[in-house]
Amino acid sequence: MTAGTGASAIAGALLLTLIACATGATADAAGARAASDSDALARELLTQLIAINTTDTERGNVTTATEAMAQRLRTAGFPAADVQVLGPSERKKNLVVRLRGTGKHKPVLLIGHLDVVEARREDWSTDPFQLVEKDGDFYGRGTLDMKGPDAIMLAALIRLKQEGFTPARDIILALTADEEGGGANGVQWLLQHHRELIDAQFVLSGDDPSVLTENGKPLFFQLIASEKGYADFQLRVTNKGGHSSEPVPDNAIYTLTRGLDRLAAYEFPFELNAVTREYYRRLAQIESPQRAADMRAILRDPPDEQALARLSQEVVDRSITRTTCVATRLDAGHANNALPQRAEAVVNCRILPGHSPEEVRRRLLQVLSDPAITVSYLASDGTLHDAAPAGRGFPPPPLLPEMLTPLDRLVAETWPGLKVIPAMSAGASDAKYTSTAGLPTYTFSPLTVDPNDDRSHGRDERIGVASFYQANEFFYRYLRLVTAH
Ligand SMILES: [Zn+2]
Repeated sequence: MTAGTGASAIAGALLLTLIACATGATADAAGARAASDSDALARELLTQLIAINTTDTERGNVTTATEAMAQRLRTAGFPAADVQVLGPSERKKNLVVRLRGTGKHKPVLLIGHLDVVEARREDWSTDPFQLVEKDGDFYGRGTLDMKGPDAIMLAALIRLKQEGFTPARDIILALTADEEGGGANGVQWLLQHHRELIDAQFVLSGDDPSVLTENGKPLFFQLIASEKGYADFQLRVTNKGGHSSEPVPDNAIYTLTRGLDRLAAYEFPFELNAVTREYYRRLAQIESPQRAADMRAILRDPPDEQALARLSQEVVDRSITRTTCVATRLDAGHANNALPQRAEAVVNCRILPGHSPEEVRRRLLQVLSDPAITVSYLASDGTLHDAAPAGRGFPPPPLLPEMLTPLDRLVAETWPGLKVIPAMSAGASDAKYTSTAGLPTYTFSPLTVDPNDDRSHGRDERIGVASFYQANEFFYRYLRLVTAH
């Protein structure tokens, strides 16, 4: 199931069935038939999910999608008591389903969000709320982020149920609301109000395509195991002002920009953690000789300064190894012919795990080194605060062998030579809630994406048809491996 477009992938599976029957390999034939049935189901689920508008708008309703998927699960044989639809508001209900196992280990929790970012028909080449297959791709809002991965997780669970598979740990799937925005985040709500329903040893989120390609060639399989924190700060300078015909040295704009110059020249300390260490250790096995040598050199204790300087010229490497703070907005003055009474800037920080926004705020004060510049925490609701949150973000979880070993094995089988590279994301997802709650969370979806053409949140969002079916089979097999013993 690795080549061809959608129709030909199904045809390929059918052909496999026929060949297997002809050679008398009935077990293989049954397997191929199950795979092709599962592909057909995954496509049906995706078609249905895309057609339900789950944007956080008047037209959107997550509960409609939740109810539709709950019905699918009950029809597939899940007892009604194991299919829960619950949430804080009528339009923002979440789905929690449990495939019961022997209870030998604590459950594994799968999470996916059902809500999508708004999409306008006039911006798109196709109707964003219809699944359209065109030239080897599925188009539709959410195909990538993340109704495609949702359909794959649902199809895997239904396939396991129908095969009568009894896992060594319960498999819980939570499909939730308000990851993209809105005030009723499903994962957060479930953790606060129904922790027992979703409590698990570890969490797998499908909220990121993992097979990163360049010019159609897979580069590596990205497993996100940590996220940077986020904080905005407002820098502010006030001054009594005056007439611009009589300038004085003490000028709010100059005071602020001199501080910003010091910030621009400042670099937060280099720091690695369990995830970024493994990232560089594994990436060094596939990188060009100079970069590979530099990566190994920064893993030494202490890190090699020259290697670090070379690597730090790359934006991605710099953002992975340091907290970053950058000026993103500037606003000052009130008239062309008046000395400024006020100068403000917004500084956006992406904070390494293990550090708090308040710690970063204090560091900013040191770097700006001018008591005339105040630094306030700018909360997401726009309010200003003298101090920032003191929470240190979640430390990266250990890369559990029960999660990683089967992944390494299956990736090597599916894409010979491809490496699993654990990574830290500079973005933020629902993983922050489960991680903060003490549940180690790992994010991957075995879908293919070219990072230079990632259309999640954008127009004409799409996934490759062949990639979708390949990911469907991959995830089913992975879930079986993870829960078999
Ligand atoms: Zn997402």
